[in-house]
Amino acid sequence: MSHVIEKLFAREVLDSRGNPTVEVEIHSGTKFGRFIVPSGASTGEHEAIELRDGNDRFHGKGVLNTISKIKQEIFPKIKGFQVSDQEGLDNLLIDLDGTVNKGNLGANAMLGISIANLKLAAKIEDKRLFEYIGSGTRLPCPMLNVINGGKHAGGNLAIQEFMLMPIGFDRFSEALRAGCEVYQELKKYLKKKYGGSAINVGDEGGFAPPIDQTKDALNALIESIENSGYSIEDQFYIGIDAAASEFYNEGKYFIDGKSLETEDFVAYYEEIIDAYPILLSLEDPFYENDFTSFSKLVSKYQRSKSIVGDDLTVTNVNRINMAIENNAMNYLLLKVNQIGTYTESLQAFNLTKSKDWGVVISHRSGETEDTFIADMAVGLDAERIKTGAPARSERVSKYNQLLRIEEYLGDNATYCNKL
Ligand code: PEP
Ligand code: MG
Repeated sequence: MSHVIEKLFAREVLDSRGNPTVEVEIHSGTKFGRFIVPSGASTGEHEAIELRDGNDRFHGKGVLNTISKIKQEIFPKIKGFQVSDQEGLDNLLIDLDGTVNKGNLGANAMLGISIANLKLAAKIEDKRLFEYIGSGTRLPCPMLNVINGGKHAGGNLAIQEFMLMPIGFDRFSEALRAGCEVYQELKKYLKKKYGGSAINVGDEGGFAPPIDQTKDALNALIESIENSGYSIEDQFYIGIDAAASEFYNEGKYFIDGKSLETEDFVAYYEEIIDAYPILLSLEDPFYENDFTSFSKLVSKYQRSKSIVGDDLTVTNVNRINMAIENNAMNYLLLKVNQIGTYTESLQAFNLTKSKDWGVVISHRSGETEDTFIADMAVGLDAERIKTGAPARSERVSKYNQLLRIEEYLGDNATYCNKL
């Protein structure tokens, strides 16, 4: 039986920072799919455009114009479209937009429709979302962002994210439990060392202590892992997201109270990696157009370190191809709203996999209760997921969805404990 798009609702709702965002609901018969679009703060300059009203509502961040575009301009063109034809729908949206950066319809409008339709298609086939997405049965390693810096906090820590990676476990639920225990231990450590205000949290639920040296944050993580009784490297690794474009200006990086030329910043990473073998994953270590410095780290460390492209590649096949040509990374950070449709996200995933590189499915710093990325990570068999601290419901909702999936899969569930 054929199922077509019959009804669509689009509305302005709120994200985890209290900013408005787009929610889309698509109906066919008695079923519907619904998606809320997330939003970044440290956005890459090559990301697809998120359209906002720019008037006096919500300090210019309202999305009512985007909502009326969805209802008045887009819906009449997609009404009656086959729900099962995801690629056809996404290509139609891309054609209607007609720009390279989604500046006409807005990536927030397009993604809302694209993923709402995908979720509806899964319901029509009576499948769990992750099963509709793919055949994966492996739970991803969570990258738990427990210390927030950069644009996600109000302090002087240049590096944006310090993440716990509980790799040496057999099941996702065990890994998550260990991550939560270390998070609580870190809270104790920070409070004792830096005082009560150190345990205030940033945008992604990680603590935002008054630390301004990268090494102090790494030491805090290591001590907390040890204090929790877990073993360094056997069980836990650490990941960072420098989001380096945010502290780069005219050839210099401003970090740890110093200003470093690019070459010195490469040496800075080499020194940190030597001193902290537990550091496994480095995301956006350099600013978003410096493929050359990224490739220096890849050449030196090969697969022993995960060099992750986020602002560098923005889930865009053209940028990923540039990373391939330059051998500039070995892991892709995949954010669906950086590109604006599910089909293009899948193309980014497949291109990355064709190089045998890994993929981290990622949230945004402005998130919602939507758990789509958890299903996407399992369905596509992605190695890792990055969805914040094990605190604050917009982060925890994804971890909880992964727990449900693991329970449902039972003995068939495996865990990605790959380095
Ligand atoms: C990131 O940089 O990886 C991130 C999640 O932050 P944002 O959503 O602010 O880009
Ligand atoms: Mg990033």
